[in-house]
Amino acid sequence: MSANEESSQPLRKGLLVSVSGPSGVGKGTVIQRVRDRIPDIAHSVSVTSRERREREIEGVSYFFRTKEEFQRMLANDEILEYDIYLNHYYGTPIAPLIELINAGRDVLFDLTVCGSLALKEKFPEAVTIFLLPPSMSDLRDRLVRRGTECIEVIERRLLEASVEIPKADLFDYAVINDDLERASDRIIAIIEAEKYRYIRQIGIEDRILNG
Ligand code: 5GP
Repeated sequence: MSANEESSQPLRKGLLVSVSGPSGVGKGTVIQRVRDRIPDIAHSVSVTSRERREREIEGVSYFFRTKEEFQRMLANDEILEYDIYLNHYYGTPIAPLIELINAGRDVLFDLTVCGSLALKEKFPEAVTIFLLPPSMSDLRDRLVRRGTECIEVIERRLLEASVEIPKADLFDYAVINDDLERASDRIIAIIEAEKYRYIRQIGIEDRILNG
């Protein structure tokens, strides 16, 4: 590669960061906070077969598709990883992600636990973060306070959490959400530190020496 070609490459390889955690842990709010504070980070827009909620925007919140359309995308190898959550498909479409990676963008993913593990398998350099509740009783309190589900569903969520939480050891980082501000600060610190790993800046010394 010539010096010119080399200098047209992004200075740093983009970072892929995924956040997972049990239902009720406050992942959505923490992720929103991280996005607000790192506006440059791109959001991997997933495809889902669930209904669009009020205020959600097609192509921004999700790509909303029917089950059949999702299955067609799967059959055509257009989905990097997927999971079924509450009877609906959720998956990461490959094409937009490749575009972001080629542009050297940092990308944030909001995935189920299985989704983060699958992403790591496909992209071992991806950074996976497990968001944990301070305790199971705290998680129960949060689910009850949320008031969106009946007691049977809350019990099922807690059971799912007790299966998911032991998988924390498969993640790169484990962050306790004891406080929204502190948890997002921790995730931001992880992202900032990961950006400066040498592996994402290979050749930086040559640029300095030849610059
Ligand atoms: P919600 O319906 O609340 O937007 O999302 C439900 C769950 O699906 C969340 O835990 C979210 O992290 C997960 N999710 C959203 N998109 C994807 C995806 O592309 N792949 C996987 N594996 N999980 C996803």
